[in-house]
Amino acid sequence: MLICTTKHDLQKTLVQFHQSGKTLGFVPTMGALHEGHLSLLKTCQENADICVSSIFVNPLQFGPNEDLDTYPRQLEHDQSILKTRGCDILFLPVKSELFSANFSTHVTVAEITENHCGRSRPAFFGGIATIVTKLLNIINPHIAVFGEKDFQQLTMIRRLVRDLDIPTKIIGGPTVREEDGLAMSSRNAYLSPEERQIAPTLFKLLSSLSKKLTTTDEDWSEMRAHCEKMLMQNGFAEIDYIDLVDSETLDIIDKPVNEARILAAARLGKTRLIDNVAVKKST
Ligand code: AMP
Repeated sequence: MLICTTKHDLQKTLVQFHQSGKTLGFVPTMGALHEGHLSLLKTCQENADICVSSIFVNPLQFGPNEDLDTYPRQLEHDQSILKTRGCDILFLPVKSELFSANFSTHVTVAEITENHCGRSRPAFFGGIATIVTKLLNIINPHIAVFGEKDFQQLTMIRRLVRDLDIPTKIIGGPTVREEDGLAMSSRNAYLSPEERQIAPTLFKLLSSLSKKLTTTDEDWSEMRAHCEKMLMQNGFAEIDYIDLVDSETLDIIDKPVNEARILAAARLGKTRLIDNVAVKKST
């Protein structure tokens, strides 16, 4: 696996692949890799000849009181895992490589980012849109793979590349879960052993909401209220949101349409967990 720390080195390395007609795939990450990230690498390998991954803890997407300084970092371990799993090129920039002192351009994707996670994390999606635009411009991959775990992020990126005519095909990879259903996340490392026991309740309750929506006529707001109550009774500290949405627009709805999704975020102790499930309308 080649490791490039500068844009210049990376682009010099990539030029030969671009010229030889090989397809280039890209998987951006913030590191602390787990099987969720690695499933995206596998999807990338299935869809492209050469796979580039990046590890960069993007300061733009953290709010002032968020965990930028304490975000889990395990670079050596990540490098060895990526190498073992056949990643071809790892881009490992430092902050100054991507942001010059007077960096002043920010990318905003309107509407789709305003609800759900956007309500409690106002800087978050702009920070991601900006870094993803930069990385796609630097690498110019044919495909890029993002996880459905961060469904609003994936939807925003699809919109971003469409709106800005970025010639990269975006592929979504399904959420990889622990055996008990908890969605894998680098931030799960923050959970205490007791919180770790409680955490899968989020996915269990979302799955049961999804099932109820497709098999009963129960009212969505009543179902949601019950789910929130159950989460709090099980030890969650705060519910950020539980929204039923149209999968494409992320507009809030109150009855499932053909392609619907339940998106949720809730705090367990100090850790904010997010998850989402598809709502499959019975035929
Ligand atoms: P992150 O390192 O958290 O910025 O995530 C990098 C990529 O991995 C994003 O596209 C995430 O959506 C994706 N990802 C994170 N967790 C999972 C998971 N459990 N399953 C699938 N993809 C994931």
